[in-house]
Amino acid sequence: MSNKEAPSTDLASEVKVKLIDPLGNSIEGLKYQIREGGKIVAKGVTDGNGSITKFVSRVGAQLEVYVERFASDGMKQIRTLVPWAENFSVKLASGKVKQTIKSTTDKGSPGEYKRKTHIVKSGDTLSKIAAKEGTTAEAIARLNGMRVTDVLAIDRVLKLPVDKPAQSPAPAAAPAAKESKAPIPIKPEPSRGENGTPKETVNASCDKSACIKVGDTGPIIEELNIRLFGFGGTIVPGKKWNEFTDKTAAAVKQFQKDYMGVTPTGSVCGGVLLALDEFLRKYPISLATMKCECNKCNGFGHGYTDSSKVEMYANKAKKTHYTGTEFPGMHRALVWSMRAAQFYTKVKDAELGFHYLKIASGYRCWQHNKLKGRHTTNHMGNALDLQFTKGSATRRCEGADVDKIRSDIFVKRLGAQLGWGAVNKLSLERAEDGATSWVHVDVRQFGTEWKADRYYATTQGGVDGMPLIEMARLESRFKLINCAGVPPSKEEDKKQAASDRKDVSNLELSDKGLAFIKDWEKFGEKPYDDSEGYCTIGFGSLIAKKKCSVLAAEKHPRYEKYKDGITKDAAERLLAANVAGTVEVIKESVSVPLYQQEFDALVSLAFNTGGISKFPKLMSKLNTKDYSGACDEFADITNHGTSGLVKRRNAEIKMFRNNVYDSTH
Ligand SMILES: [Zn+2]
Ligand SMILES: [Zn+2]
Repeated sequence: MSNKEAPSTDLASEVKVKLIDPLGNSIEGLKYQIREGGKIVAKGVTDGNGSITKFVSRVGAQLEVYVERFASDGMKQIRTLVPWAENFSVKLASGKVKQTIKSTTDKGSPGEYKRKTHIVKSGDTLSKIAAKEGTTAEAIARLNGMRVTDVLAIDRVLKLPVDKPAQSPAPAAAPAAKESKAPIPIKPEPSRGENGTPKETVNASCDKSACIKVGDTGPIIEELNIRLFGFGGTIVPGKKWNEFTDKTAAAVKQFQKDYMGVTPTGSVCGGVLLALDEFLRKYPISLATMKCECNKCNGFGHGYTDSSKVEMYANKAKKTHYTGTEFPGMHRALVWSMRAAQFYTKVKDAELGFHYLKIASGYRCWQHNKLKGRHTTNHMGNALDLQFTKGSATRRCEGADVDKIRSDIFVKRLGAQLGWGAVNKLSLERAEDGATSWVHVDVRQFGTEWKADRYYATTQGGVDGMPLIEMARLESRFKLINCAGVPPSKEEDKKQAASDRKDVSNLELSDKGLAFIKDWEKFGEKPYDDSEGYCTIGFGSLIAKKKCSVLAAEKHPRYEKYKDGITKDAAERLLAANVAGTVEVIKESVSVPLYQQEFDALVSLAFNTGGISKFPKLMSKLNTKDYSGACDEFADITNHGTSGLVKRRNAEIKMFRNNVYDSTH
């Protein structure tokens, strides 16, 4: 099936990359790595032109570009990259680069990349600073992740558009240009709305005739058809996927209307590309969670086309032979459609009350089938099982709720069908097919042409693909990029405003958070010693920090009160009272605003471990707004890897990071 194992048939690609900052200046002396499937294939430091040493890869390879992190060691992925020509040259713009913050007088030294800064003084405004520095208020705001209208705090250090090193050596002569394409002009990132949504800009050079419309063809159109599949489907029999058809236009319209909140036109200008790139960031979906769990394949099968290689049922008298191809990865249109499913569930159809919970099952190869005594073949790259929750419940939806998700979201919005009656649509198992507590969705009914190897991916970069705006540059669609002006998405803005981080004094443990804690604590009707040897009752409610036997001997008053046991109702009230104490501890210890789910996760952690002050590293990260770093610390609080605690911490991390309340354990 896949020829990815046979390099002799692959076309070599000579790759050149130049790294530039958001204002178009080349970045010198920046440590970089190019990885493929996690393995480093090239590394070094950018030269005087911001270029990396050219290296040889393959056409169609799924590469990841890493640069050193801002203000810490370690590398951060900034882009994915798919070379599709034998001579492949690209400029990558990234604001996520190593920046050395010094005073305004520091112009840097040769070979080093230094960020010019300004320290805010009394009376400063962004426009005053901008005028003095020969830039714009918008550029400074963008660079510093703030709004033009934000109040400036005295002594705040503002990053300024970069200055070239003062005594930089003359740049080396540019290598002879082998590529036929003209150099790619890179513009500053287009101005963004508050939430990163493309903002309406009056752009004199916007030539609407450059926008992509029905009848156009090209690689970027194939990407549109894959990425927009969840907005009603994009396959038209007899037409290639790289053609912009009426069905593509209909999907674009649905995306414009529902996601972008603009008047649907059905043609693609820069704004739609930017919005699709944003859509990718807002609805992340992890390919790692879809990997096969057989422990025999690398996560996506071996490319077997039948069951013969795994000797299924060899121990039985009759050896049965099944046919079914292990496709080379997960189908990209299927994965992208799940972003649409998440968007509709969370935003457009929020009033239905459902929440996307997780991928319950992804890839299942023949080895996995053997393990489970199954011979189904849908899950060999073409199917996903998803779970949802409803309201504040933490358990997955079942029965009529799952039917409703199928009909009101997958059929109505994504254009899926119940069963497998028609071709070229997403297909859903029905309740009578057994899918009573999950949504099984597959691309089994896609025609062969739309199940070609290149539509399957085994890496996150491969499934996500390159940012479309980058692709438009590579295809020299500059007029199109100039048209990147659309109003912000109103639906998203409303949701976002409601979900800004809040001051902890205004937060309480949510019902979902309390239910989560309860689900993780076993119910003890009689007093029992917990894992730390403390006498406990009900749902993990502490009686006193001694063994029950010691308290019994002491006739400890709290022990006396509970020694005859407790009802479940009373235990729940006791839990609520005890948790209230933990909530106060969190409120006293946290000095930065939090999302509800971050607050809930911290309460769960503190309740489970008996406090938060014993985790100074976590707290110092949190209180300096290093939310992600603080969340990472959860993983270390497992009492040396106790399996129950590892699971609970992972669930709390999911809550903190992804707003997913999963008490399955
Ligand atoms: Zn497997
Ligand atoms: Zn399934």
